[in-house]
Amino acid sequence: MFDWTIPDEWSIRDAWIKNAAGERVVDFREHNLHVLGYSEPFQGRLSAEDLKAHCYTLPDHPDRIPYRTSYYKRQWGFCLTQHQYDALTEPEYDVCIDSTLGPGVLDYAQCVVPGATSDEVIVSAHVCHPSLANDNLSGITLAMQLARALTDIETRYTYRFIFAPGTIGAIAWLSEHQAQAKERVRHGLILACVGDTAPFTYKQSRRGDAPVDRAASLVLGLHAEGSTIKPFSPYGYDERQYCSPGFDLPVGCFMRSGPGGYPEYHTSGDNLGLLRPHALGESFTNALRIFEALEGDGTYLNTNPHCEPQLGKRGLYSAVGGRTDTRAVEMAMLWVLNYSDGGNSLIDIALRAQLPFAAIRAAADALLDAGLLVAAE
Ligand code: ZN
Repeated sequence: MFDWTIPDEWSIRDAWIKNAAGERVVDFREHNLHVLGYSEPFQGRLSAEDLKAHCYTLPDHPDRIPYRTSYYKRQWGFCLTQHQYDALTEPEYDVCIDSTLGPGVLDYAQCVVPGATSDEVIVSAHVCHPSLANDNLSGITLAMQLARALTDIETRYTYRFIFAPGTIGAIAWLSEHQAQAKERVRHGLILACVGDTAPFTYKQSRRGDAPVDRAASLVLGLHAEGSTIKPFSPYGYDERQYCSPGFDLPVGCFMRSGPGGYPEYHTSGDNLGLLRPHALGESFTNALRIFEALEGDGTYLNTNPHCEPQLGKRGLYSAVGGRTDTRAVEMAMLWVLNYSDGGNSLIDIALRAQLPFAAIRAAADALLDAGLLVAAE
């Protein structure tokens, strides 16, 4: 897969450390993080000292189990709380890691929600360690709910949801879909860490000014107080692959806290207790708003550009004033008319006007109906 070779498939069935009484003092069946990810099989009796050389803990957070892997160096190990480590006071322990490493397959999943065109929006969530709730499961959950919601509405774009292990999974997908990625992907979002209560962070695509970047700025600027827009960097989640220079796809990363952005990250503390339903709900609503802007975007020309057209005689000013949403759409009409010179899209105009995309889209539709706007070529 490009410069990479998919490593052997790892299967883990059981693992434990037993004391002299035969009791499991560390047990994979109690927590799957207890095994160093990708551990080679091992069975034997070790001194406590030799065993401890294979143990990983978090001394600063003695109640948490760290999440650790060793994909590219063959070894075995256990991850345990500092309390469990400190309790290893017997001279010897029996140890078992019942795993297999061998030829296999790399699995990833796709869910395609067809739209009116074959132009695609890709939505990607990493699935390498789904027992961690915010980093992994929240992105998977949000992607599933978005796929479900989009199934019920008619869309312009085809939405492709990709569930793959981080890094190697995205590399594998891109390797197997090179032509499709280059020809069809119009917009994309990586979803990760979307269930905690941190303010939103959107990391721009490598291009920095792609429509998805501007749509995210618009939506988070208007609807998510305290949100941050960060420029692209070649570090983080799978945007590193989608935005590698050979692809340079317009794919941004939609997050709340982000990688390494909270103390429970990559530990057993990243569990369901960290997630809040309202936080996941806001992530869902704002992701859908970004899709709404991408779906409704377009670039138009004002057919009456010499001074303002008279809106009243065309019935475009409400006969009965006072409704607040009417006022917003009327304001939006003035913005759309002024900036529809063929060089600004509706997302650009909404950003400039700082008006919700729905108001800008409604204004454009009214102006199209009145013949004051035509699609720009
Ligand atoms: Zn992770």
